[in-house]
Amino acid sequence: MTDGQAGFSAGRCDACSTERGPLMKLSLGKDFFGRAYDRLSPSSDQSPKWFCESCSMQKNLQRDFRDIRAEFEKLSAGQLSELRGADQLQRAHLRLREIATILDGNMFGARLLDPADVHALIGRFQAQAGSSSAVG
Ligand SMILES: [Zn+2]
Repeated sequence: MTDGQAGFSAGRCDACSTERGPLMKLSLGKDFFGRAYDRLSPSSDQSPKWFCESCSMQKNLQRDFRDIRAEFEKLSAGQLSELRGADQLQRAHLRLREIATILDGNMFGARLLDPADVHALIGRFQAQAGSSSAVG
């Protein structure tokens, strides 16, 4: 008697479709760099959704990964980037390694972020660190 609940999917995870709770509504407030996160931006995540525990964790990893990669692309292109300071670069590098470790060590219901992408970006960070600074 209640079919056609368009657009509202609370009751199952929006990523892996599990009905096993608890489900969390993700409010993606601040990004990795502490900037306000615009969830209406079409290039980022769309409307708020519901995710189970492992998918919500992955969404957070995915969000940080995307932010870091976008800033790294700017840095590589010689544009103003959140990563222009050595401290920020180091912090982002550590976060990437943390993300890779979490991805490598977990079995998720849905694969939202490819560990190979994370490892590839870590490799580019290491190349960047080797070429631009000799701080040890
Ligand atoms: Zn899920």
